[in-house]
Amino acid sequence: MTEAAPTLTKRSDPAPIAFDNSYARLPANFFTRIEPTPVTAPRLIKFNRPLAVEMGLDADALERDGAAIFSGNRLLPGSEPIAMAYAGHQFGQFVPQLGDGRAILLGEVVRPDGERRDIQLKGSGQTPWSRRGDGRAALGPVLREYIVSEAMHALGIPTTRALAAVTTGQPVYRETILPGAIFTRVAASHIRVGTFQYFAARGDTDSIRVLADHVIGRHYPELAGTDGRHLKLVDAVAERQARLIARWLGVGFIHGVMNTDNMAVSGETIDFGPCAFMDVYDPRTVFSSIDQMGRYAYGNQPLIGQWNIARFAETLLPLIHETPDEAVDLANDAVTRFMERFQEHWKTVIRAKLGLSEHEEDEDTDLIRAFLALLHAQKADFTLAFRRLSDAAADEGADEGADAAFAALLDDPLAAAPWLIRWRARALRDNRSPGERAAAMRSVNPAFIPRNHKVEEALAAATEDGDFSLFEALNGVLSRPYEDQPAFAAYATPPKPGEEVLQTFCGT
Ligand code: AMP
Ligand code: MG
Repeated sequence: MTEAAPTLTKRSDPAPIAFDNSYARLPANFFTRIEPTPVTAPRLIKFNRPLAVEMGLDADALERDGAAIFSGNRLLPGSEPIAMAYAGHQFGQFVPQLGDGRAILLGEVVRPDGERRDIQLKGSGQTPWSRRGDGRAALGPVLREYIVSEAMHALGIPTTRALAAVTTGQPVYRETILPGAIFTRVAASHIRVGTFQYFAARGDTDSIRVLADHVIGRHYPELAGTDGRHLKLVDAVAERQARLIARWLGVGFIHGVMNTDNMAVSGETIDFGPCAFMDVYDPRTVFSSIDQMGRYAYGNQPLIGQWNIARFAETLLPLIHETPDEAVDLANDAVTRFMERFQEHWKTVIRAKLGLSEHEEDEDTDLIRAFLALLHAQKADFTLAFRRLSDAAADEGADEGADAAFAALLDDPLAAAPWLIRWRARALRDNRSPGERAAAMRSVNPAFIPRNHKVEEALAAATEDGDFSLFEALNGVLSRPYEDQPAFAAYATPPKPGEEVLQTFCGT
């Protein structure tokens, strides 16, 4: 909770972060060099010490000087701050120039395990890409990204992470006046489908080749130097996105703005704007206030993933094959394979959620479909349905209490029995004890997700009253999502009538 002078100071002490900045060594047209704009009264409100340690950073120094460092007021030695160039399709419309308008990459570090990570400030002031924006972020969206990205990580889903959050002491002007804040994001990289599109839109094939080789070296080293690596890169990115989206669906996550500038080629979840977790199961669920057509609805995410992969493949066409028609055919096949890959990953996710082992039977597909249809028709809470089913799995002879707890989630509890009977009969043919099955199910069906009403409650307390206790409590609960935490039962329950959050908003 230290305050720092609003001036940029460069220090010569041993660096708490050993930067090694590979992106800043790329050609000058990939970014703009720009320093964060100092803020008047930074306060460190959250520091992710375990993440700092995992990254091999000097956690003590960062915690002590966090207000100055994570506000951008003090630049550390070795940092080469840049704003990255990118373009993107926003809700299907191509924008040839977006770029980091309110984010600045401080640099990269190589973790003790050899993995490279970006450290980026979001909300650190204007850049040449800001257009009409102020380059700032409000406290609410900063805390939201903190909570949800860390929750995703705890759920085991690839995601960017939260290293720190500071308040700036300065207001930001949106529809209302809000407290300003800066978020420190850690990512495998911030290279997006839109980064490739930026160069493709300029017909700059040389830059695409350089970018592709950088991405391969960083995220897909097994492809380095191989023949046909650009087509292989499309497949490799498609594979990670297919797996990622299957994992999102498994926990009821709705990204909300799957624009191509918000899809990382590393396969991490990135940009937590109007994202939300579904309570009642309905594939058409949309929360984002700006998604009026439901383009980014829960059940539409695989199709949008494929659409984005098609946009990615297009940028690589000149490198895929010298004959344009041949390149298009090859790229099209890769785009088609995306959906096959997604189906495979989704099958893995949903089978595990239902406690079905590797041994597949013909009627499994129908059993899965029937379960989802039951949840939909009966307006059941998605997360609780799978968690209660995990409890019911513990007893092969139908534990009446556990079965009743599942049935109670349905509009008509009597509708549960026929499906449960089928499921139990099927489970008997799997070579697993009920105890093993229940434990396996509990390890993939979370008890806790960041429920919208709990997230909003924590954000309101922090932004309106300066009370961060709910934010802290929510983070704590969500760090162990697969454990029953009886003391925090209130965080597991769906919103009561009147508590539902109907819309979420972008943090811009
Ligand atoms: P987002 O919707 O947050 O992914 O942002 C889309 C684009 O708008 C990116 O180029 C951002 O850098 C830019 N942007 C969003 N908010 C701001 C802001 N407050 N100031 C400047 N640029 C912004
Ligand atoms: Mg974005």
